[in-house]
Amino acid sequence: MANVYAAPVQDLIDELGRLPGVGPKSAQRIAFHLLKQTKPDALRLANAITQAKDRVTFCQRCFNIAEGDSCELCADDRRDVTLLCVVEEPKDIVAVEKTQEFNGRYHVLQGAISPIDGVGPDQLRIRELLARIDAEGVQEVILCTNPNLEGEATAMYLSRLLQDLAVKVTRIASGLPVGGDLEYADELTLGRALEGRREVGG
Ligand SMILES: [Zn+2]
Repeated sequence: MANVYAAPVQDLIDELGRLPGVGPKSAQRIAFHLLKQTKPDALRLANAITQAKDRVTFCQRCFNIAEGDSCELCADDRRDVTLLCVVEEPKDIVAVEKTQEFNGRYHVLQGAISPIDGVGPDQLRIRELLARIDAEGVQEVILCTNPNLEGEATAMYLSRLLQDLAVKVTRIASGLPVGGDLEYADELTLGRALEGRREVGG
């Protein structure tokens, strides 16, 4: 296809199109929205990206987002170290925290097993998870991956891996909207799913 747009415009559309959930039409719409904005307005987005990339890293323990080596949750010694909630992304921590039903620590896998997207166990923070069980005296691992195909496959994979370790493994109860993400569940529903978690036998 011949380039319809000037190179800088096409570059912008291409970059926006690489974002998750943004198709070619949306990318085009966002690009033209940005071009219509005043320069300070448009550059606020660019600055926010620069600031976030400069200042935010991942917690070296749980892989939550952090400013520095440790995230706020890992640095908080009031939290129960024997309970470890495994989630896919940092945004899932926010969802679980909102329920106020959990006072343990977290481990962020940074994704879920998805053969279609070429994501296997090696691309996830699974080795780091296994290393934490003994080192931190974890007694229960709560598999809190999303209630969709990838999340369930990941939970099943982890439950098999973890059954050889001296740790109780539980999965959040069903009843969450199937096929969805944790972030779409309301606090009450997710809270109940956490409370109703069941031990999985691998
Ligand atoms: Zn952390």
